[in-house]
Amino acid sequence: MFPSLINHLKKFNFIQNEPLSKHSTFRVGGVAKYFYDTENIDDVPELIAWAKSKPVPYFILGGGSNVLFKDSGFDGLVVKISADKISLDPKGVLAEAGAKMAEVARFACANDFSGLEEFSSIPGTIGGAVYGNAGCFSKDIGSALLRAWILRDDKIVSVKNDYFDFKYRWSKLKNTHEVVLKVLLKTSAGSCDKSRMDEILKLRKEKQPWGLSAGSFFKNPGSTPETSAGYLIEKCGLKGEKVGGAQISSKHANFIINMGSATSEDILDLADCAKKAVKKQFDIELEPEVRIIG
Ligand SMILES: Cc1cc2nc3c(=O)[nH]c(=O)nc-3n(C[C@H](O)[C@H](O)[C@H](O)COP(=O)(O)OP(=O)(O)OC[C@H]3O[C@@H](n4cnc5c(N)ncnc54)[C@H](O)[C@@H]3O)c2cc1C
Repeated sequence: MFPSLINHLKKFNFIQNEPLSKHSTFRVGGVAKYFYDTENIDDVPELIAWAKSKPVPYFILGGGSNVLFKDSGFDGLVVKISADKISLDPKGVLAEAGAKMAEVARFACANDFSGLEEFSSIPGTIGGAVYGNAGCFSKDIGSALLRAWILRDDKIVSVKNDYFDFKYRWSKLKNTHEVVLKVLLKTSAGSCDKSRMDEILKLRKEKQPWGLSAGSFFKNPGSTPETSAGYLIEKCGLKGEKVGGAQISSKHANFIINMGSATSEDILDLADCAKKAVKKQFDIELEPEVRIIG
């Protein structure tokens, strides 16, 4: 484990007892024992080496738009990756893991490259997107990724798309927990379809609620509208259902909203209520898309 690094570890000024609610779009969660927000991608291997040497568990955080931190917090190190450089490469666009999906899409567009338009409306970072194979409107990040630099067995390695074994809202990283440091995304020369970007944003505003959430709470168990998690939860009559300060959105039943005063437990109880109702009525097991931490 990075023996040379352990001897020469940079002195990091960790924040102690950092409220994780500040770093998740749900705005809930307890504190992280240690927290470090880095804008330098080269810090990441060292930070992980530090956690391993303590030893304490570590968790990699991007934009916090697909996580639910429990009220009990995280008894280890949370590394927030804010390294977000984006540049052009002869094969496409290079982005550090902390670059926002929307920024990467806009950068490509501003440089007259197309192919990333759909991603302009997805919150969060490119690192988080690769982890969960984020996507929308029939396109996911797995279809655009050419290559990534990841931290594997404490070494930085470059891997191609097929390494990730991308599936619907799934990449191999969900099993290995390797860290994405940088990605190369495929783009096509030719002007970017700005009207497609506007159309997607408009559709989102029409169909999805505003408010504090982590997007869709559950994965869709099937690929038809009648087997989407939102449809099934709605059919159970749960739109608008509340537990404490959390509510199932009355606009889209797969969104759980923190109405302002929710605890993580309220959200989990409400999710459990939806899961049990769908199981009882349709004999379908809903699986969270949101990562539950703590
Ligand atoms: C309003 C709203 C709408 C949304 N709409 C969509 C949508 O249309 N489609 C969709 O797919 N998602 C959607 N989401 C969910 C979310 O935006 C995506 O899943 C996004 O890709 C998460 O990125 P993040 O940086 O916020 O990840 P985080 O929430 O910070 O982390 C999520 C997971 O990724 C891991 N991770 C983060 N960075 C890295 C890294 N560098 N290396 C390895 N693992 C990492 C974390 O450890 C964690 O397990 C939506 C969320 C919101 C709030």
